[in-house]
Amino acid sequence: MPQHVDHASSASRPVRARPVRRPAPPPSDDLRAKALEVHRRLGAVFGLPIPYFHSLDPLSELVSSLLSHRTRNAESGRAFKALRARFPDWSDMVEADTAEVEAAIHGVTWPEAKAPRIQQVLGDVRDRHGDLSLDFLADMDPEDARAWLAAIPGVGPKTSAAVLSFSTLRMPALPVDSHHHRVAQRLGLIGPKVDVGPSHDLLRAQLPPDWSAQDLYDDHEVLMLHGQKTCHFRGPACGRCALLDLCPTGQARGA
Ligand code: SF4
Repeated sequence: MPQHVDHASSASRPVRARPVRRPAPPPSDDLRAKALEVHRRLGAVFGLPIPYFHSLDPLSELVSSLLSHRTRNAESGRAFKALRARFPDWSDMVEADTAEVEAAIHGVTWPEAKAPRIQQVLGDVRDRHGDLSLDFLADMDPEDARAWLAAIPGVGPKTSAAVLSFSTLRMPALPVDSHHHRVAQRLGLIGPKVDVGPSHDLLRAQLPPDWSAQDLYDDHEVLMLHGQKTCHFRGPACGRCALLDLCPTGQARGA
């Protein structure tokens, strides 16, 4: 049974203040239409719905997401398995010597930074919620759940969206990874100077507000897959791209 959120005790615990973000202006109708067309065409290329790639509980998804930053999927997957094998109970990992955590995740980039960060983030979850679990997020509105996660130092927009979308919570949220971000930028869905973090709200606002968790997951997955298979970091294959007529970058390259 999901645990009840103790909002009063959560609110009373100290959380480092984040800078106040001004809401972005709503996207134009043209941009919304373009985002939908991109989704439709890439959906036809890859086939929808896209199956979920794993089913971790939200706390484990949080660990997995923190490990994955700037790391190949295979390496972060290996590190996650090694960490889980060494610490079958995440509480033991929080209390462990940081050197032991670092040794278990040595295959990821920056293990010396990620080991203490994972311990700190999980420690914050336990201190704020009173229990080392994120199952209670299932009872919250998705935006409130994202805000709860984002208030933890070290948890950015991609990690909070990944926990909601990829975990067994299956809540509506749009993660944006580097492939997704690159494709969106080349298509002109976001500006050339918009970083991955701020791109989350901009890209989400272009999609229908009532889209389901699966719809948003599909959107992330097809843009990511397109970035991996066609719109490569170096040498995008514009000549065989289903989006060429929508893409100023591809058209400029052709010209
Ligand atoms: S046309 Fe080229 S740059 Fe544009 S999305 Fe397709 S592969 Fe990427």
